[in-house]
Amino acid sequence: MHELAVTESILNIAVQHASQAGAVRVTDLRLVIGQLSSIVDDSVQFYWDMISAGTICAGAHLHFERRPAMLKCLDCDQSYALDGELTDCPNCHSVHIKVIAGEEFYVESIEIEAASDLARATS
Ligand SMILES: [Zn+2]
Repeated sequence: MHELAVTESILNIAVQHASQAGAVRVTDLRLVIGQLSSIVDDSVQFYWDMISAGTICAGAHLHFERRPAMLKCLDCDQSYALDGELTDCPNCHSVHIKVIAGEEFYVESIEIEAASDLARATS
């Protein structure tokens, strides 16, 4: 599986973002995964715990949000949500359909603890 490479890129994004923001710690990451993506949450979590150890992201929580897949009929322009198996167009029964959403995978947001927050909390 390719989850290790994916998780490494998430970590790189998070570390870069956190250092630009002057963070002392990354606390939470929100990830969006399309329904058709082959990414397995548990595998990402497993690799995350392993590779984030010793970085600014150690102990950060991963939140996975699954986005439903959307299909679009190329003959009548009808858009519809994928419900289980691939189906023909519910409007005209054409099989000329394309996937318009559901294959995405990206980091939606990163929550950090900034040095100034820490200073306030400990003073
Ligand atoms: Zn159609």
